[in-house]
Amino acid sequence: MEKIDILKADRDYLWHPYTQHATAPAPVAIVRGEGALLWAEDGTEFIDAIASWWVNPFGHSNRYIADAIYKQLTTLEHVLFGGFTHEPAARLATRLMEILPANQIKLFFSDNGSTAVEVAIKASLQYWYNKGIKKTVIVAFEDAFHGDTFAAMAASGISLYTQAFNGMFIEVRRIPVPVAGREQESFDALAKALAPGDVAAFIFEPLVLGAAGMVMYAPGSLDRLIDICRENEVLAIADEVMTGFGKTGKIFACDHLSRQPDMMCLSKALTGGTIPMAITTFTQQIFDGFFSDDINKALFHGHTFTANPTGCAAALASLDILGRAETSQNIERIAARHREFASELQGHPRIRAVRSLGVIFALDLATDGKQEYYGTLRNRLYDFFISQGIILRPAGSTIYILPPYIITDAQLDKIYEAVRMALQKIG
Ligand SMILES: *Cc1c(COP(=O)(O)O)cnc(C)c1O
Repeated sequence: MEKIDILKADRDYLWHPYTQHATAPAPVAIVRGEGALLWAEDGTEFIDAIASWWVNPFGHSNRYIADAIYKQLTTLEHVLFGGFTHEPAARLATRLMEILPANQIKLFFSDNGSTAVEVAIKASLQYWYNKGIKKTVIVAFEDAFHGDTFAAMAASGISLYTQAFNGMFIEVRRIPVPVAGREQESFDALAKALAPGDVAAFIFEPLVLGAAGMVMYAPGSLDRLIDICRENEVLAIADEVMTGFGKTGKIFACDHLSRQPDMMCLSKALTGGTIPMAITTFTQQIFDGFFSDDINKALFHGHTFTANPTGCAAALASLDILGRAETSQNIERIAARHREFASELQGHPRIRAVRSLGVIFALDLATDGKQEYYGTLRNRLYDFFISQGIILRPAGSTIYILPPYIITDAQLDKIYEAVRMALQKIG
């Protein structure tokens, strides 16, 4: 192949996500990845401390997953899922049934986290419509993030992502996250939001709000919120797109709960960070709400690449790795090291709060006033970490770490040291 000037072609033709091209610096051209490491064209090495937007638990260019993908690609790469089915989907469904909360009994495939949420929200609205009950409102957390398609965006509360579209959304009521000290306020707000009787579903990121800056709250509080939904006949949708597949120390964040949601949204680590794929899961009750002689009651939603066999094969290989004792040990090792680092930083004069759960670590810098999500402090921090060969993308004044599970202790040490240095140098 002829050599290509990547940055020139990028500059000429490409439009990047969440990027203001008038002011953004040139992107880094990555040419190779292995384990927790990525290499740029000029040989610069980076530690991928956020698992490439939280998708990659088992390392880049993972051989085991790649072999499974190759085998599937050369057996049956794709077939339409309308009127047809296939072994990889059947196997993946069977495998997921073993690990999902017991009440989740049906899977619906789509392509990414946003579509998984889109399917859940549409299904919740149509569930009530099919019953002839008028429930058209969704409840979500302040600062929630559920994706960038329209219903998912409506449920999201980060204004930078949604402000241009205000007034064009389905109706969403917001309640505060039940972070320590605000639990009762959150419970009361939910009860109040549900009181008019017009709410179809409450959608939430269980235990950790990722894009909000890894905001964490207790399982008991979520149990209580789900109870309030049950008392009001409102469906509970757990968006596990970020938290799923081990991030919180259990396979799903919902595994920390005593209650179970009515629907779950899965994507990101589902295929080990290799192929875009998503799944929305449902209870029998919801499936039955669409089960009828009437074609109009069917869920009229689908995507061309639904249940792509190659994606299913990648997900099956990922679940193999997730099930290995070595993977659990790695998650526990990272969780213990994060806890140690959190207690070291406890009381640091530059830190307002520090927290960790599973492989997720986060600290909020003590700053004057609210920092912009992509503001100057955030950009200085980002640039500093890049200069240290570490990929971290702070959200506003929150620095978080979410490494692949195969990260080594030495690589973790380097990340922690860069965070210590940033605390010293970057004001
Ligand atoms: C990333 C994310 C999404 C959106 O997923 P995409 O694949 O980017 O569309 C939805 N919900 C949560 C909780 C996420 O973290």
